[in-house]
Amino acid sequence: MKKPSAINEKLCQGKDVFERMNYLYQASLFVSSQNISLASYYSSILSGCAKKAVLRIEHNVKRSICKVCESPLIPGKTAKVRLMAKKQKIIKTICYVCKTIKRIPIKKKHTLWFDQPESLIEIFDYNLKTETNNFKTCNSRDSIEIKCYSYNWQN
Ligand SMILES: [Zn+2]
Repeated sequence: MKKPSAINEKLCQGKDVFERMNYLYQASLFVSSQNISLASYYSSILSGCAKKAVLRIEHNVKRSICKVCESPLIPGKTAKVRLMAKKQKIIKTICYVCKTIKRIPIKKKHTLWFDQPESLIEIFDYNLKTETNNFKTCNSRDSIEIKCYSYNWQN
C-alpha cells in the first residue's frame, strides 16, 4: 500500500511549480524594500512559471503584482491605495514605479469564486511530520536566506 503523501503528490499536478512560485513571491516581497528591480524580476519569473506550466496564480497574489512593471504592490511602500466612491466603489492602487493605476470594483454581496466554499474540492497537506523525519523544524527567519545580486544591463 502506498503512503498517503505519495498519493497526494501524484494527484496534485504542478506541485513543484506552485512551490517555486510561492518561493519567488516571498522572495519578491522580501527584496522589495531594498531592490525594487530585483523584486520585479522575481515576480516576472513567477508569472513566467505560471504561463509555462499553464497554472493560475492565486487572485490575491495576482492583485498584489503590477501588470506593467511586475513589481510587488505593497500599500505605503511600493503602491498607493485609495478607496474611491463616485458611481461605484473602487479600490484604486497606484504603482510608485510605473504609475500604473489598477482599479478593482467592490460590489455588495459579491465574492470571488475562489472565496466561495463550493469552489474548494480538496486540500493537500504537505507539512513535514517531525515524528517520521529526522529534519529539524526551524524558525522561518532562520531558514530563509536570499542573496542579492545587482546586474549591469547597459553592457
Ligand atoms: Zn508598476
